[in-house]
Amino acid sequence: MTYDPENVFAKILRSEIPCDRVYEDDWALAFKDINPQAPVHILVVPKGEYVSSDDFAANASDAEIAGFFRAIGEIARLSDIVNSGYRILANHGRDGHQEVPHFHIHIFGGRDLGGMIKRAST
Ligand code: AMP
Repeated sequence: MTYDPENVFAKILRSEIPCDRVYEDDWALAFKDINPQAPVHILVVPKGEYVSSDDFAANASDAEIAGFFRAIGEIARLSDIVNSGYRILANHGRDGHQEVPHFHIHIFGGRDLGGMIKRAST
């Protein structure tokens, strides 16, 4: 899948549309999800143009991957959810229901998040 530079997170990265920014460094931008599923629901996007977790894992440089995941740790610390606990999640593809085709990780916290996955059926 080729990268669509008109996706909503690309527009946020170019400051063409606003976001509720919580963190930014050379590797990542983080902002509050517009439809939060928990008291803390932050989206972390890499600065580079990667469609998905598969694209990022295969094609990002070691520095980009390290910088991105260090940013996630820093954002969790800044959000004061390390002691209480949190969940990180990336949706990929059809079965994962990825909606926005710029790789992103969700950080959820601020309440008991329950079991990991509720299955309709195995
Ligand atoms: P995913 O299914 O992992 O692609 O989830 C995309 C997420 O992006 C959803 O949780 C949306 O609520 C969120 N989202 C979509 N547009 C925006 C926006 N403009 N600002 C913040 N979050 C957004």
